[in-house]
Amino acid sequence: MSRRRRKNALRATGWRPHIALRIVATDGTFEPAVGRDGAGWLGKCIHCNSKLWVPASGSRQKGVTIEHIVPRAHGGDNTLENLALACSRCNGAKGRRLDHRAWSDPDLQAMILRLQERRRARWRTEDSAPPPGDAR
Ligand SMILES: [Zn+2]
Repeated sequence: MSRRRRKNALRATGWRPHIALRIVATDGTFEPAVGRDGAGWLGKCIHCNSKLWVPASGSRQKGVTIEHIVPRAHGGDNTLENLALACSRCNGAKGRRLDHRAWSDPDLQAMILRLQERRRARWRTEDSAPPPGDAR
């Protein structure tokens, strides 16, 4: 798949299981847990800390979205440092309110800085990520 087609695929669905799993692995708020659909991880929205469930398969769950910290409209890429998981309410609100403002907009810049700081504070390496589900 070409680079352009890959980007379009991510834009169309907003969700790629292997990308979601790499975000989970690098976000220290995600802890192994067992949900109705089996093993997975429970973590927190990058904005509001509400709980987000990601199953071991990485399949898309209702209300869970991939957030681009630097918006794609401003050239934000799909590197792990620029991605986080967010509830759809927060992601949608940021998209509508801020993502398409001018790059110099102070509210947009403040939001990006805040999210980058949070992502860094939560950062863990993929090597140290716990396996899905209950460790028992
Ligand atoms: Zn949220």
